[in-house]
Amino acid sequence: MLAQNGVPAPEDLAEVMPSEERLARGPVAMAECFQNIPCDPCYHSCRRQAIKPFSDINDRPQIDHELCNGCGMCLSRCPGLAIFVIDQTYGEKEALVKIPYEYLPLPGEGDVVEAVNRAGETVGEARVAKVQSGAKLDGTAIVWLVVPRELSMEVRHFKIKGGR
Ligand code: SF4
Ligand code: SF4
Repeated sequence: MLAQNGVPAPEDLAEVMPSEERLARGPVAMAECFQNIPCDPCYHSCRRQAIKPFSDINDRPQIDHELCNGCGMCLSRCPGLAIFVIDQTYGEKEALVKIPYEYLPLPGEGDVVEAVNRAGETVGEARVAKVQSGAKLDGTAIVWLVVPRELSMEVRHFKIKGGR
């Protein structure tokens, strides 16, 4: 499925997903990087050494979810926009998904946007809780989306209503 349309299959996701027990303890990153390509800025960006050392630059990133605190620094450093932070402790019925975003205009805090899954399909609505941007983030904004809890492993992009 991944090779045909770029959408990871459940078994691909199972390889990189934090455990339920880890997700229950707060924000944590998930690297949805499934191809062996010569790239490693995610590894160099993590000050907690939560991304394991690469033995070869073509390795895929391996996150130690116990060391990761969900700070989100690696999101803005990944040229593939392939890393997300999920916080299932955000609320009783809501979760937070931090999404790297390189389109303009940026959404505003409080905006309600279309929540989009990995296949580009709208699956519901999300609320923008925060937008991080600026020089420190290398031009890649991080948008904090509040989504229904059951969609926290589905929503990986969004569309501004009436826009893209
Ligand atoms: S979210 Fe922060 S701690 Fe976790 S892997 Fe990325 S940079 Fe490291
Ligand atoms: S920076 Fe992004 S694309 Fe490059 S190896 Fe890390 S997760 Fe994959």
